[in-house]
Amino acid sequence: MQPHIYSQSQHNIPQERIDSDALFVIDRLQKAGHTAYLVGGGVRDLLMGLYPKDFDISTSAKPEEIRRLFSNCLLIGRRFRLAHIRFGKKTFEVSTFRAGDTAEESLILRDNIWGVPEEDVLRRDFTINGLFYDPQSAEVIDYVGGMHDLQNHFLRTIGDANVRFKQDPVRMIRLLKFRARFGFAIDESAWQALLDNHLEITKSSPARVIEELLRMLESGHALSFFTLLEQTKMLTILMRTLDEECKNMGKKELLAYLHIVDHFHKQHADEKLDRTVLLAALIFPIIEKKLGKVSFEDVSFTTILKTTESILDPLFHQSFVQFTKRQRFLVEFILVMQQRFDLTLKTSKILPRLLSHPEKNIAIQMLFLRSHSHELLRPLYRQWKEASRQEAPSS
Ligand code: ATP
Ligand code: MG
Repeated sequence: MQPHIYSQSQHNIPQERIDSDALFVIDRLQKAGHTAYLVGGGVRDLLMGLYPKDFDISTSAKPEEIRRLFSNCLLIGRRFRLAHIRFGKKTFEVSTFRAGDTAEESLILRDNIWGVPEEDVLRRDFTINGLFYDPQSAEVIDYVGGMHDLQNHFLRTIGDANVRFKQDPVRMIRLLKFRARFGFAIDESAWQALLDNHLEITKSSPARVIEELLRMLESGHALSFFTLLEQTKMLTILMRTLDEECKNMGKKELLAYLHIVDHFHKQHADEKLDRTVLLAALIFPIIEKKLGKVSFEDVSFTTILKTTESILDPLFHQSFVQFTKRQRFLVEFILVMQQRFDLTLKTSKILPRLLSHPEKNIAIQMLFLRSHSHELLRPLYRQWKEASRQEAPSS
């Protein structure tokens, strides 16, 4: 198949937004006689006028050939062999063009089958993620109609959505991620395929799903993403307790803290709330509802502990999404600490013991979120924040 080629005058990729080390890698591969392009999310983001967070490279060079060209290169993965090329803190992922068996209805088993550029894009998930960019000729190379879909704000799978979601169910989560992040319309057949196949998600690796969920909590689009999870019945599979509470107390109330979390991440592009705080923020409205209060100075420690455990136990044990023991411990710590903070409302005292706790900052982050939800907690947050600042060892 002939690709559609878009020359520089037909696209708006500003070359200066491309990382100079990524350009160096592509240039060296091309000078050694290989084909090499930018691919995937990086190209998509450049075309959308965004700053890509990573620049992935696809090439005809085999992993061993890549390694010979770069001293700062490490080959990783057995099933899916990739080259990582490091420049200081940055790492570029360089993968060899692969052929996938797109007609196969089972989970992908064969990964290291080298292919040509066209085959490489046919195994990718959505048309907007299937574009190549050749910095040398400044051309976008499009085998899948991704440019048209990007211009029309449209999410479409590459190939039959039913087959593609069965092959790798994480693609369904990714579809919702791009919908939440970009607000693009979803192709009717992809939407239907997602509704039909949502149970398939349990066949995928929980670790991959958790990573996508946590990344979305950090993305600035957590509210719309979790709303989509609920709407598509994914939430009931992934985190059943949360779904039940959505039904009990209403979606808007349950997800209220995500609005604040999103606002924070949109305002602070380079700063993320701790992942345990994000999990705590998902649960906090349930605690408020169960206790019938927004501040807990009159609630006993035993009550807050029991309430917290009654929510965390099913959430951490019955969900497809499994969190670590340490995550569970920290979420519980963050939640019960709120009662300790609130005692200050009654006593006007700051307990110095709490300030020396090594994990106090994550608990204070939760108090920060609460203070944005309830005006009356603002002075309390400021008090604790200031006290913790004074406590911090001077550097
Ligand atoms: P983000 O901006 O969140 O990183 P991304 O599209 O770049 O989004 P990555 O996980 O970095 O996502 O993946 C890079 C590229 O690899 C994608 O753009 C897509 O082409 C391909 N890809 C990722 N996950 C899948 C998948 N599950 N199935 C097929 N192709 C995938
Ligand atoms: Mg990416």
